[in-house]
Amino acid sequence: MLARRASPPSGVTPSNYGPTMAHLDTRMARTHVKRPFTTLVLAALVCSAAAVSAQPVDYSKLEIKTTDLGQGVHLLGWQGGDSLILTGDDGVLLVDTSVAEMGDKIKAAAAKVSGKPIKLVINTHAHADHFGANEAMAKGGATIVAHANLRERMAKGQRIAAFNQTIPPSPPAALPTVTYADALSLHFDGETVQLFHVPNAHTDSDTLVHFKRANVIHASGTFGGDGSYPFFDSSSGGSLAGMIAAQEKMLSLADANTRIVPDEGDPGSTAVLRACHDALIEIRTRVQKLIDAGKTEDEAVAAKPTNDLDARWVRPGGFLTGDTYTRMAYQSLKAGSPPAAR
Ligand SMILES: [Zn+2]
Repeated sequence: MLARRASPPSGVTPSNYGPTMAHLDTRMARTHVKRPFTTLVLAALVCSAAAVSAQPVDYSKLEIKTTDLGQGVHLLGWQGGDSLILTGDDGVLLVDTSVAEMGDKIKAAAAKVSGKPIKLVINTHAHADHFGANEAMAKGGATIVAHANLRERMAKGQRIAAFNQTIPPSPPAALPTVTYADALSLHFDGETVQLFHVPNAHTDSDTLVHFKRANVIHASGTFGGDGSYPFFDSSSGGSLAGMIAAQEKMLSLADANTRIVPDEGDPGSTAVLRACHDALIEIRTRVQKLIDAGKTEDEAVAAKPTNDLDARWVRPGGFLTGDTYTRMAYQSLKAGSPPAAR
């Protein structure tokens, strides 16, 4: 269901707050990225800083790595929009369904942990590697829960400017049937699962999922794990200010032992989340200073405001370099925070 090549979306109205990521993309292509992101696997793996590759993904070769996080919670990792499951007497609760091609593997991995059916699904945000197998899960009897903006974006289809990606409208059977606005609590398998909407962060449809007993938080796309700047998708309503606010919400929920599940990869600790948050605050302060001094975007990038931070937060081989992140920050700050993120 994912378009790998860009084409004008039919009936899709891009929701942009200020400069688009296509603009960012053009600048990156001119400066340090050798080719624009047109035909890349980001069509499927839009969230992942490490996912840029010119090679199509062979999903038949991807394996799910299952990690026990305790209290019935397991991480199902596949280097994309990683999933979580909660298992117990009530059945299986699944956070994020992955791309359509991985749905059967997600089901099989869940079945290895629990013989019970997938009853509830939560989609953390409206990127296709988080909702792609929704229809299969719904047909299997699961109820799908998400923020109202996610349902709207899925129903209309989307244009993700950063990656020149068009996601067609989803079929009705794939859409969440339960939506919420600000917060929602689910009581399942003896666990209290709290959903919090954080406005205009990774996207405008993010849900943080807090498993209170297990002391695990799924960060949606608002945390990149250790060693990666967290990506935000301006063309889907994301912003730097919203990312910082989302991280502050998670820090308010966490204690020293909380595991924070990023888009992809191993869970991070509260200490790593705090370090990432502090880095984003630094970047915001430094880039805002350059904006206030009247610097152009190129001049701001040339000033290398992230220089001392990149060693820790630029993932080798990933597309989020210090220069790229500076451009994203500049554009987001220049555009101003979307109203909901203020
Ligand atoms: Zn994402």
